Amino acid sequence: MRLPLLAAAALLAAPAAAQPAKPPKLIVAISVDQLSSDLWEAYRPHFTGGLARLAREGVTFASSYQAHAATETCPGHSTLLTGRWPAATGVVANQWIDQKHPRQDKKIYCAEDPNVVPSSSTDYKVSPVHLRTQTLGDLLKARDPRTRNVAVAGKDRAAVMMSGHSADQRWYWNGRAWASDLVRAPEPRSVAAFRAAFAARLAEPQPGLVPPALCQARATPFQVTPTITVGNGTLARAAGDARAVRASPELDGATLALAAALTQELGLGRGAATDVLSVGLSATDYVGHAYGSGGQEMCLQMLALDRELGDFLRQLDGMGVDYAVMLSADHGGMDIPERLRAGGVAEAQRADPGLDAEEMAKRLAPSFGAAAGGRPLLLGTGVGGDVWLAKELTGDTRARVLAEAVRLYRAHPQVETVFTAAELAATPLPATAPDRWSPIERVRATFDPARSGDLYVVLKRHVSPVARPSAGYTATHGTLWDHDRRVPILFWAKGLKTAQPAAAADTADILPTLAGWLGLPLEPGTVDGKCRSEAARCR
Ligand code: ZN
Repeated sequence: MRLPLLAAAALLAAPAAAQPAKPPKLIVAISVDQLSSDLWEAYRPHFTGGLARLAREGVTFASSYQAHAATETCPGHSTLLTGRWPAATGVVANQWIDQKHPRQDKKIYCAEDPNVVPSSSTDYKVSPVHLRTQTLGDLLKARDPRTRNVAVAGKDRAAVMMSGHSADQRWYWNGRAWASDLVRAPEPRSVAAFRAAFAARLAEPQPGLVPPALCQARATPFQVTPTITVGNGTLARAAGDARAVRASPELDGATLALAAALTQELGLGRGAATDVLSVGLSATDYVGHAYGSGGQEMCLQMLALDRELGDFLRQLDGMGVDYAVMLSADHGGMDIPERLRAGGVAEAQRADPGLDAEEMAKRLAPSFGAAAGGRPLLLGTGVGGDVWLAKELTGDTRARVLAEAVRLYRAHPQVETVFTAAELAATPLPATAPDRWSPIERVRATFDPARSGDLYVVLKRHVSPVARPSAGYTATHGTLWDHDRRVPILFWAKGLKTAQPAAAADTADILPTLAGWLGLPLEPGTVDGKCRSEAARCR
């Protein structure tokens, strides 16, 4: 059909709108693990690759939020494509305690099926069984079974929480190999070729990267322990070092290479229905844990990530796929306290190891003894966050132990406050923008009565939960403070009008916004976030 000349010209010149020109055939959802808004703001002017392109051509909410308190990888990823906070996804932490489980340590990993035998919290069967909500891929597949739901990530929990219950392909680096929990899915040919290429690369040593002036300016060494100095590293790796490969841009490069290969082989974005490709880029998190976020190492990682993403987007362009991109993070992070103090954050410090639940239980022992069977009165998974009372405690004794534990924690100079499960259960879910949430609202949004602790310990701001640093683990995240909560959210699609809204979006807004792009109806009351009219036509 020939269009009248004027109408054709009008179509060509269709102004960009707060909505893609048409529903994309492939949604590429990228999570950069530990990409805080602080990092985004520091490096945005220096990006020239993929991150610069997404920001320049798309809608950037630079200061958005993983709004809840559970700023860890599993809960954070569970919010990205479900529209829900952890209180609804059920993924309240990377690990929680289930005292009814027969395993010795009672620890349950967020992305495992703990009922598969043999399993433990460290040697487990990967599964989405704990995720109580549907992901974008799940919803699209329910609408049209021809949707393909594919995930590739540097961590199993990232791949699982972004793809959910109906993944067609799910691949992740498990520390030893590129693996999948989907044993019945046929293995694409490209996976074997990719594995061989990755193994060959891993067998070779990786020389350090050459830091540009931008990174050299951050290369001040900080001694964290007598044997660990960070700040001036170059992300070099010894031949065959499968552990060090995680804290290097090689992991993201490999993840993106496999994502591109699967896109090509499976014909993602070329089917009858919209496909979802979830990509979890984990190296930034491993670099952040190993070296902190303020040194030369993170600078090199940020610039490498930008380059790798640019290459990946060019590959998708070259395939002629009709794709759109959402990019965000599972949480932010805090730099090493040693460097923060040197930069003027006087209160930055490492947590007292005595705040560990088992240590606190020892302080309760003179008054209350141990629980039945000699078990400690308190159980936990680290310093700060959820603490559980031994299940053998009942009635009046339980109430007195709880009151004394709360008193002891609150009296500690590094503790901001403590919330009990009863206080959290009585608190309504927040209804304001995430930059206005009170501390108890942040914890409420991650409270699940069946999985959360009996009390929740909030460390003071800039108290690092890394009480005893070790090689590969000098800095972290996981608190309810903004350095851990603030993350960027980017939307990029053809025909989408560029914008940099100042509003604080919520990662729970991502699903309803993508639903706006795709005309996907969402049942009322099934999301915590809202469709962002700055990036989508919202119904
Ligand atoms: Zn993470």
